[in-house]
Amino acid sequence: MTFFPLPAFNDNYIWTYRDPHAQGVWVVDPGDGQVVMNYCQRVGEPLLGILITHKHNDHIGGVAMLRQQFDCPVYGPSNLAADIVTHPLGEGDQVVVGQHKFTVWEIPGHTLEHICYVSQANEHKLLLSGDTLFRGGCGRVFEGTYEQMCQAMSRFLSLADDTEVFGTHEYTLANYRFALAIDPHNPMLIAAQQDAQSSRDTGQPTLPTTIGLERATNPFLRFDRDDIVERAASLISSPVPALPDQRFGVIRRAKDEF
Ligand SMILES: [Zn+2]
Repeated sequence: MTFFPLPAFNDNYIWTYRDPHAQGVWVVDPGDGQVVMNYCQRVGEPLLGILITHKHNDHIGGVAMLRQQFDCPVYGPSNLAADIVTHPLGEGDQVVVGQHKFTVWEIPGHTLEHICYVSQANEHKLLLSGDTLFRGGCGRVFEGTYEQMCQAMSRFLSLADDTEVFGTHEYTLANYRFALAIDPHNPMLIAAQQDAQSSRDTGQPTLPTTIGLERATNPFLRFDRDDIVERAASLISSPVPALPDQRFGVIRRAKDEF
């Protein structure tokens, strides 16, 4: 049993886990509390806990309502206010969610306090990546530096290929439009785009993805590839840099202006 999505707003997913032993529900980044309330009501089980990745309102907007209703623990970045996070977490801390034991990584970049939850131990390898890694893309660098975001990408590359990746937005088709512009001859990317298009055509989510698929298709994890960086650089009339964080930055800037 892993996580499944409750859609919220235009393109958010609230990743949800139903613990068969404790008979209750966990959610990640509940931007919309009513969506979670409706689900708990439908299955007749309480909310046992909340995991937060970062401070943006489409990730925390439902916390107050859910805490009032269920009085459950809220795990999240240590510098989020106490009225949001009851159990502050930092690098290396662990959280147990049913059968999954997650380790926290601090991955500043999208925002400075952004964390993700990594489980590599048991048969289900998971990454709850928030707004940092998406299928075919990565989060915008709002508060951190390209160097920080590039470090996060490098850490993701250290994960096993069969790690399932739960990003919090359905951005895949837009991400693939950009990815194909700078990596047009990649057969795995072309196949992944077709697969995602047919999922969306039938109303299905394109997530979770896997580290293996992202390693092969996501340009933000492929800043070591000269052809990809050269095409991104030409889109924004930039020279081709040598350092990894600058190469990542060229791809990120090209996507921002795409
Ligand atoms: Zn965000």
